Amino acid sequence: MKKLTGPFTQILPLTGLPIKGALKDEQLHIIANGGVLIEDGLILAVDDFEKLRTNYPSAQIEEITGDHVLLPGFVDCHTHLCFAGSRAKDYAMRNAGKSYLEIAVSGGGIWDSVTQTRLATETELSNLLAKRIARHLAEGVTTIEIKSGYGLSVTEELKQLKAIHQAANKTHAHIVPTCLAAHIKPKDFDGVESEYLKYLLNELLPKIKQQDLANRVDVFIEQNAFNTSDALFYLSRAKQMGFEATVHADQFTTGGSEVAVKARAASADHLEASGDYEIKLLANSDTVAVTLPGASLGLGMGYAPARKLLDAGACLAIASDWNPGSAPMGDLLMQASVMAAAEKLSTAEVFAGLTYRAAQALKLNDRGILTKGKLADMQAYPCNDYREILYHQGKLKPARVWTAENND
Ligand SMILES: [Zn+2]
Repeated sequence: MKKLTGPFTQILPLTGLPIKGALKDEQLHIIANGGVLIEDGLILAVDDFEKLRTNYPSAQIEEITGDHVLLPGFVDCHTHLCFAGSRAKDYAMRNAGKSYLEIAVSGGGIWDSVTQTRLATETELSNLLAKRIARHLAEGVTTIEIKSGYGLSVTEELKQLKAIHQAANKTHAHIVPTCLAAHIKPKDFDGVESEYLKYLLNELLPKIKQQDLANRVDVFIEQNAFNTSDALFYLSRAKQMGFEATVHADQFTTGGSEVAVKARAASADHLEASGDYEIKLLANSDTVAVTLPGASLGLGMGYAPARKLLDAGACLAIASDWNPGSAPMGDLLMQASVMAAAEKLSTAEVFAGLTYRAAQALKLNDRGILTKGKLADMQAYPCNDYREILYHQGKLKPARVWTAENND
């Protein structure tokens, strides 16, 4: 059964735009009084609503009343949604000027989330996760990447990944799991960082493959996490096992983005510390540069050089980094809107970074634009002009959100 949804005051299909580099709003294709023809969760046509109604008289009509602007569903390509507990105490201490070390000594930091997440059962975790997924989906995020990384042992990482699968089965949103067992070396591991990574390669990743729990691995490259040579070894071995790679790179110090490019990772995420050398490297690669404004807001730090990355020709995506420590808010549209004002990003660049360019970071080419053959993941904002969306800095939320799973 075909379904025709519309009319929408404006449809921005985000088609015909390059995967990399700067974009001007004049490049946006806008369909006025548009409609979307859908069958079995896939888009058959996007065109003038009346024209589609005439051409497909038997299509069931899903009528949209009042002004609405239609966009592809957002793709949040970097989150740490699978956690238990709160880090409000850390957050307050950091705001009060305490150092990373002082917070860690008082029992805060990533290890606090590890402890609380280990105490939760798989079902408790999946219930917590389901609530966060539901909120994200209601705010227009139709594809959500979710990392493990608060388990940090074979059993606990598998528990987290299984909780992600449990939650994925209960939502219409598309969930992409990633193994971030290489987040930090856990306090209770008897050995150095390189030995911990070998333990993951030998003991954890084969089980993840066998049980089909994730096909992506992430590593946190930083002075207090993993060094560049250990990380490069880990990623190349994981890739040989059939995993796709992504990297937490250049958040406080550089080195991570170079590893990401060398390992031909799908994305290098954070990049707050990236300089001209790293920007050029990323721009000349197929690795997507993912900026995480939520972490900058949470830590009170500068943004990644998004403007420079785009001008150099990089593919730039924007993700929430939603996590209990540095980015607890998780409002992707608000974060992107606020960063756009600071970094001088065009609306086209922000929308691209939240949709088809973010899909590229997950190597998904079946979504992120509204055109024939793509997933019918879409969201409608109650306004008459696409520029209203960023203007309201995240306060204007979609009135309707559809994903391929409930759109037919
Ligand atoms: Zn992160």
